[in-house]
Amino acid sequence: MRVRPLLVLVVLALAILPWLPVSAFWITQMNYIGLYSLVVLGLLLLTGVGGLTSFGQSAFVGLGAYSTAWLTTVVGVSPWLGLVAGLLLTWLVAYGLGAITLRLSGHYLPLCTLAWCLALFYLYGNLDFLGRYDGIASIPPVTVGGWSLGAGNRMYVLIWLILLLALWGTHNLLDSRAGRAIRALRSGAMAESFGVDLRHYKVVIFVYAALLGGVSGWLYAHMQRAVSPSPFGLGYGIEYLFMAVVGGSGSVWGAVVGTATILIVKDQLQNVLPALIGTSANLELLAFGVLMILVLQFARDGLWPVLERGWERLAGPARPRRAAAPAGLDAAELPRRELPPVGDVVLQVQGVRKDFGGLVAVNDISFELRAGEIMGLIGPNGAGKSTIFNLISGVQALTAGSVRFMGVRIDGRPAREIARLGLARSFQHVQLLPDMSVLENVMLGAHLRERAGVVAAALRLDRAGEAALRREAARQLERVGLADAADQPAGSLPLGRQRVVEIARALCCDPILLLLDEPAAGLRYQEKQALAAVLDQLRREGMSLLLVEHDMDFVMKLTDHLLVMDFGTRLAEGVPADIQSNPAVLEAYLGGLDEF
Ligand code: ADP
Ligand code: MG
Repeated sequence: MRVRPLLVLVVLALAILPWLPVSAFWITQMNYIGLYSLVVLGLLLLTGVGGLTSFGQSAFVGLGAYSTAWLTTVVGVSPWLGLVAGLLLTWLVAYGLGAITLRLSGHYLPLCTLAWCLALFYLYGNLDFLGRYDGIASIPPVTVGGWSLGAGNRMYVLIWLILLLALWGTHNLLDSRAGRAIRALRSGAMAESFGVDLRHYKVVIFVYAALLGGVSGWLYAHMQRAVSPSPFGLGYGIEYLFMAVVGGSGSVWGAVVGTATILIVKDQLQNVLPALIGTSANLELLAFGVLMILVLQFARDGLWPVLERGWERLAGPARPRRAAAPAGLDAAELPRRELPPVGDVVLQVQGVRKDFGGLVAVNDISFELRAGEIMGLIGPNGAGKSTIFNLISGVQALTAGSVRFMGVRIDGRPAREIARLGLARSFQHVQLLPDMSVLENVMLGAHLRERAGVVAAALRLDRAGEAALRREAARQLERVGLADAADQPAGSLPLGRQRVVEIARALCCDPILLLLDEPAAGLRYQEKQALAAVLDQLRREGMSLLLVEHDMDFVMKLTDHLLVMDFGTRLAEGVPADIQSNPAVLEAYLGGLDEF
């Protein structure tokens, strides 16, 4: 959280609110803001960060509410047991729905969320034991140590206590190993190449968001002391999504800002508009729609970033994030992998072929790469070099042939399993998370070297492991000469330096084999020299490298062995000196071997 003084102020204001002579109306309004914010916080994670759109969160709120309503009135258990049971049911349903629907891509997931929201709504309305459309009344209040939270003021304390805890936990989660994986969900292949199981994290945030909805439902049921289907319908599901979008996902507080803005504006419009225009027609919906369009037009990323900028103008620029602290020099060092002895065969590519429809991008390519060797892969644009990288690293499936890494056949395995075996890569088209700091981007590369999960992260029990990851990332950044950029957003660096960040990220994986796709593109002469020195040092440490690069000076000086490709086929192979005088290569490139 960058704006700490503001945070203290907000919490203080929340704490004294019930003692101020504010009308009961405002306490009720605050209760609703708290309840809705819980659901919106889940959506912020699910939709804002993870990119999975759900219209159906109100259905989970309903699960939490109806569970406790039925259990406390019909069975007569304590509301706290109602909470546990409700969360268990929400977890089960969300896990089941998530496992089925999260496989869907594009518009199908949002459509599915519409479907289950409607289905659960009609279920609540048609089940006799849930009171059909009348619902369940006479729900008892929550009690804490014999003290009843029946009055609105007291529920206010419980609602906001739970909301503040949820904000804290979610903030922690986003600032962790699991959080970096969640923030990388939209990137697809990149994160999988560093061992992130995207499907797992999709289910995690889906269940997390559903559970927050369930808690909100439980609080609602015991605040209203009655439930009926209407607050769990599709209209509310859409409204939650609206709130999440308006708040923005730059900070967990976006959830509260979005919720408060919409609830208060809607309410005030309902009061003010009829008096202004002198008609009782429901014009507030129209005015509300126009307002929303304006917000989305002028604050694309939601209201939170706008508020943050305003605050910084008032209070001066925020302190740099914690990552700027000397990156945990007292932190433990991560265990390192043992590299194979120099000269051992690390990678065996045999008769590999890749068809894209009628186009043969890679045609019967075979080669071997040994430990402690830098091998170059060169050829003009479109020769099939990047495709070979994708085939080796498991990003694309090959049409024929085989790939063995450390003696194990890896073709057909998912990218994240290949990464686990010790293969790391960079991408020709830079794939960093632009809003995340350089250091955090590099830490993502070490995803497989720590284990801390979601619960540990939310409760901040993962700090030792995080410090070790931060130390490792700082070490790799230092090695590639980017220590000074650690705290900058990755997207603010020139493209050439972003490529070097990708190398640091790949090194964080502690690889046996490193695949670098045009690492020197966009670098200045001195920067290229420095990069060559780093790669040479890696080779001397026993790492193996496969390099695609267009700068012939760079390639010829650095590599031990070269494969030249053209139109997907092998043109020549050998040591750099032979390649430079190879007639076939010279003929293909009309003698212009300076730069392909
Ligand atoms: P290089 O990296 O050597 O410049 P690529 O491996 O990127 O070449 O591309 C080789 C050929 O395969 C090109 O003709 C390219 O257009 C084609 N190609 C690459 N990826 C795809 C894809 N996903 N779908 C269809 N064609 C592709
Ligand atoms: Mg390429």
